[in-house]
Amino acid sequence: MDIKAKKSLGQNFLNDENILKKIADSIPTTINDLIIEIGPGKGALTKYLQQKNSYLICYEIDTRLTEILNKFLNDKTKIIYQDFLTADILKDIKDINYNNIYIIANIPYYITTPIIKHIINLPKLKSMTLLVQKEVAKRFSAKPCSKDYGSLTVYLNYYFNINYLFNVKNTSFNPIPKVDSAVINFTKKEINYNLKNEKLFFKIIEDAFKMKRKTLRNNLKSYNWNKISSILEKYNLPPTSRAEELPLEVFIDIANNLNV
Ligand code: SAM
Repeated sequence: MDIKAKKSLGQNFLNDENILKKIADSIPTTINDLIIEIGPGKGALTKYLQQKNSYLICYEIDTRLTEILNKFLNDKTKIIYQDFLTADILKDIKDINYNNIYIIANIPYYITTPIIKHIINLPKLKSMTLLVQKEVAKRFSAKPCSKDYGSLTVYLNYYFNINYLFNVKNTSFNPIPKVDSAVINFTKKEINYNLKNEKLFFKIIEDAFKMKRKTLRNNLKSYNWNKISSILEKYNLPPTSRAEELPLEVFIDIANNLNV
């Protein structure tokens, strides 16, 4: 069946069997785990995921793919034709007795962040493996002081250990996209930061990165600067620091001290 790729849905189908196998092999699932695949497309990755014999739920928005994807249906595999972003995941998986959830997706860039927000508080989430544009993968795994480090990186580091796994050449896809891609893994952290006020913490991060060129002092004008500068000093950071120089633990320390 010939299905024309829809650009609006980010349809670049992966056709490199080695890469597909490598992606499936990168998640250490057991038969009692649940894999959620977002955007199975024509099932190129689904075929390898199914071989792992875990529970498998796939969300595909494009109903033209029904005939191809329904071939994968079995006792442990369910395909849901819906926009993943509007899915009630807990309702969809309530009858499955699983240990951990692994999310896996080759997805268009524009839904990466909304997807992360949609799954971040999912109970029993173990990890998320994404195939995204190389630049996006770099941004997600950026370290402090690099140009790609931003509020999103800090936010993600709060929840996950992030690992850039490997590159995927654009010629591994059909149609061939303009840019290369990369596979990145986010493994959920056991959160024990003793953060006093999560809301304040996220607000400080957002404000700290508001004007990228400005110093922390300028961006955090409305907060108690004396307290903030004493924290910076503790970490040997100058009072002229910018947000991109601060690792996660400094933001946590600032939030906890401003909350007293
Ligand atoms: N996994 C397949 C592969 O690797 O060949 C297809 C990848 S293709 C880049 C992205 C897939 O995500 C497409 O099948 C597209 O229809 C689907 N998709 C796009 N937006 C979606 C959404 N919001 N919810 C579910 N699926 C979506």
